[in-house]
Amino acid sequence: MTDLSLAQDGRARHWLLDAALGGIAALGAITLAHAARPEAPAPVRTAIPVSAPIPAQPEQPPVLIAFRDPVPGRVVVSPFGLRQLPWEEGGRLHAGVDIQADFGEAVRAAADGVVVEAGQSSTYGRYVALKHAEGLTSFYAHMGGVADHIRPGLALKAGDPVGKIGSSGTSTGPHLHFEIRDRRDRPLNPTLFLGREFAEADDLPLRKAQRFGRTVRVAHVSMIPKSKRALMQAKLEREEMAKAVRLAEKTGNAPAAVALDAASAARNAVAVERFEGLKVLPTSEDGRPRAQISS
Ligand SMILES: [Zn+2]
Repeated sequence: MTDLSLAQDGRARHWLLDAALGGIAALGAITLAHAARPEAPAPVRTAIPVSAPIPAQPEQPPVLIAFRDPVPGRVVVSPFGLRQLPWEEGGRLHAGVDIQADFGEAVRAAADGVVVEAGQSSTYGRYVALKHAEGLTSFYAHMGGVADHIRPGLALKAGDPVGKIGSSGTSTGPHLHFEIRDRRDRPLNPTLFLGREFAEADDLPLRKAQRFGRTVRVAHVSMIPKSKRALMQAKLEREEMAKAVRLAEKTGNAPAAVALDAASAARNAVAVERFEGLKVLPTSEDGRPRAQISS
């Protein structure tokens, strides 16, 4: 009895052990099957993003400001820097870039921003100014028209229309005069911003963009604006006058007469005094002062 019971007990234990081992093996198989499941095809995976984070995908770096071309596909024909226009005496800073385009073409916000000004002036024509991150502003001038919805305070996304290409104000043909300025209203070279994006304020090329070369670039224009015609005429007359003075000085005997308007005569007073043979007569038949070199 004892033996049997031991034997039975032993068998029983053995069976139990077998059963237990079998159970473990079965559990192991199930566990393995479970473990294998994540590698199973699509349906399981597509469910994951709903409840779980996606550590595998890197996050997009945050962008402080991103600039795009205000007239997409068009090029800068007159850069930032010292420039002399035909009616000017010397070079002065062209505080932005001129982008050539056709009448009526859309002008777009160069970056996300808010409209701070929209109006018209005798020099800049129809213009819009936008405020951006870090106190930067962008300025769109000589437009044919400002878009209807544009009002101060309106928020715009980069690429939103602000107006249309024109030739308003002091302009010699259809183009966009485009500026970017810093928070202290200092003009910056727009070409260092357009088509680029900046993650942080420190990435903005603020110092570099303020620089410009000393060389004065003489601008060639297709026409003289009406508002500058008197200036241009006066300048041409002064040049003629100076030429006549030089010639007279050289030869000592150069009969030449140059018509001058009152303003340019006054400006040439120094040149006139320098050559004693030259005298400015107060009036002439057409009512304008006349300078002539007497031989
Ligand atoms: Zn310009």
